[in-house]
Amino acid sequence: MTVNLIVTRAVDGLRRLEGLLLPPRCLLCGAGAADDGLCAACRAEWPHNTCCCARCAEPLARPAALCGRCLRHAPPWDTAWAPFRYAWPLDVLEARFKFGQNLAAGRTLATQWAAQSPLPPLPQALLPVPLHVARLRRRGYNQALELARALGRALGIPVHAQALRRTRATAAQTDLDRSARRRNVRGAFALTPGQNLPAHVAVLDDVMTTGATLAECARVLKRAGVARVDVWALARAPAGR
Ligand SMILES: [Zn+2]
Ligand SMILES: [Zn+2]
Repeated sequence: MTVNLIVTRAVDGLRRLEGLLLPPRCLLCGAGAADDGLCAACRAEWPHNTCCCARCAEPLARPAALCGRCLRHAPPWDTAWAPFRYAWPLDVLEARFKFGQNLAAGRTLATQWAAQSPLPPLPQALLPVPLHVARLRRRGYNQALELARALGRALGIPVHAQALRRTRATAAQTDLDRSARRRNVRGAFALTPGQNLPAHVAVLDDVMTTGATLAECARVLKRAGVARVDVWALARAPAGR
């Protein structure tokens, strides 16, 4: 365990202790909150991704079965589930969770996710998108794994944390356009040998933008003979370029 993670868990433990002694406060505005860490007003602003493509979860301006991109070229996964849009106030909590070592924000994100209904057909295993070991060491934890654990616990789905591995470090996807993102992750994932995977799995990540990372993981799993591969992401950012 890295020093980062030990400190994070200790601070988190203290916060939890504090939470037992004091009434919970909203992570966003400090008002009185429910157990999920949000007040009613902030929860009402939560960005639900209700009008979206059935295949890739891309937010759509008007209801339609599929987005133009999926009509032209189907993605390599079976279905995508991204119940929220990457927008306020979710984006604030996601930034704190991913870059600010704030696991309480991560718990609130996972709680909102697990409380969604209707649920999609549940997979037999959740496979978090792995971080490269160098990035894992810097950050102290893999945000996708933390979300997968919380969701797996809530929905009763086993998490196969080691099933996928990164075979090389990749540049951050943030500043890349769609085709550069695809090139950046091509061949970057492999299955850990000796995995006994069920017929239906879901690859899980925190934020899905163009879906290049999830697509690459889905291809690896399909090539290995997994019959149904869904992709699950907490939030869908509009793919844009
Ligand atoms: Zn609030
Ligand atoms: Zn689509």
